Amino acid sequence: MTTSWDCLVIGGGFAGLSAATALAEAGARVLVLERRPRLGGRAYSLRDEVTGDTIDNGQHLMMGCYHETLRFLERIGSRHLVRAFDAPRVDFLAPDGAASLVCPPLPAPLHMLVGLLRLNGLTPSDKLGLWRVGWSLLRAKRDYRARYAEATVADWLRECRQSPRMRERFWDPLVIATLNEPPERAAAPLLMRVLHQGFGGRFADSRMVVATVGLSELYVEQARRFIEARGGSVRAQSGVKAIGVERGRFCGVTLADGETISATACISAAPPQDVAKYAGALAPAAAQLHSSPIVSVNLWFDRPLFEAPFVGLIGTTMQWAFDKRALTTPASDLHHLALVVSAARDIVHMSAKDLIDLALDDLRRVTSKVNSARLAHARVIKERQATFSATPAAERLRPAHRTAIRGFYLAGDWTDTGLPATIESAVVSGHACAARVWQDLQAMARRPLDGGASSALSAPGSAKGAPRDWR
Ligand SMILES: Cc1cc2nc3c(=O)[nH]c(=O)nc-3n(C[C@H](O)[C@H](O)[C@H](O)COP(=O)(O)OP(=O)(O)OC[C@H]3O[C@@H](n4cnc5c(N)ncnc54)[C@H](O)[C@@H]3O)c2cc1C
Repeated sequence: MTTSWDCLVIGGGFAGLSAATALAEAGARVLVLERRPRLGGRAYSLRDEVTGDTIDNGQHLMMGCYHETLRFLERIGSRHLVRAFDAPRVDFLAPDGAASLVCPPLPAPLHMLVGLLRLNGLTPSDKLGLWRVGWSLLRAKRDYRARYAEATVADWLRECRQSPRMRERFWDPLVIATLNEPPERAAAPLLMRVLHQGFGGRFADSRMVVATVGLSELYVEQARRFIEARGGSVRAQSGVKAIGVERGRFCGVTLADGETISATACISAAPPQDVAKYAGALAPAAAQLHSSPIVSVNLWFDRPLFEAPFVGLIGTTMQWAFDKRALTTPASDLHHLALVVSAARDIVHMSAKDLIDLALDDLRRVTSKVNSARLAHARVIKERQATFSATPAAERLRPAHRTAIRGFYLAGDWTDTGLPATIESAVVSGHACAARVWQDLQAMARRPLDGGASSALSAPGSAKGAPRDWR
């Protein structure tokens, strides 16, 4: 095999594109191989033919603490396409009333504490119980991953003596939305990390961030242009079937159509179920992780139903409702409401019609406005393998970025970033792999290994600068 690329990147989602752009920026020649006809992985948008509106495969919320994601968007020139809400604010609606969590602009974590203390629907004793959570977080700040390695979120909340009402009104919606698993299944350290990062840092870190355009429009073409402008290439419909290894070192890939492509290094940035097929022996954990679904019910009404851009729904099957007209600029005059159910195991098998009926019933329970609104169109999107199932057992399995094979790295939201399966986890992994690959490429350029792989790598001196190890 002759080596023509410095690095192959398998998968064109957030992990793969952030890795590829970081390497291209540093000066490496990168080839991205994507199995599907489109890039974007599990965070993409499509055009709804009936309304002409762009819809996402599921509403994605980001936060101000998504530092690596924001850095990636900055790199490809897309940062202006996200909007951060001024103050952390979440409105909740339940069949028996409404509540708002509004965090004042105080230093973290005071802002969250004051917000929670003001939240109605909770008793003073529920609110006072929060100090136990704060204390536990502080106490385990350094070693929470080891200390709570076996614990579910429910175990930890029990230890912190959180009341059933506090669970129902605050913790369960937060946990299911951020970890895509209920507290009884979700790994405690992941929630602790979210709380540290989102609510224990700067005030700006706790702000909600959303894309003001469809998800694909946010990053896909910009990333492709960035890579191609720096001598790289992006190939869709190029699924990888096997990884080539010679004398313990990565040497190339074979595509599904039999084509072989050689390179000095490779970052695998596909989801675990796909990695298990083409690199199962190199990443044994991939086959052992399970997944958790997310269901989105998109409804188009002739009028708005809510005043807030998004509301949390309590005591209903639908968990969140996003008013897309308040977040993006739709093509149609209709009011597009995106309803989301995470950890949707119990409903993912239902027909689209039944899910739409369920969503309408839920809306009727929380707002009478739906009775006078006309439903113009509806569309259900099921993501059966939305994220890996974030249990304590899965936390133990998540692999490191380096593998036993030199030159072969693992990225993706499911690798061991310590974060839940989110965009930020994907980008953190992509940037971490890019930094390691770049180090190796530079070392090899100085001293080619195994008398072989003298790469097409530009001399280290010509590079614009190494990608930092941002972890
Ligand atoms: C409905 C839904 C809602 C979500 N909501 C949020 C949210 O609110 N906030 C948040 O931060 N995150 C959210 N997420 C999670 C987020 O979308 C993912 O964590 C992130 O997109 C994962 O990126 P990735 O690059 O690791 O993987 P992916 O996006 O899955 O990208 C991997 C790519 O690899 C490709 N591939 C697979 N096999 C091969 C092969 N053999 N050869 C070549 N290519 C291959 C795939 O086609 C895919 O394009 C949500 C996910 C879903 C599905």
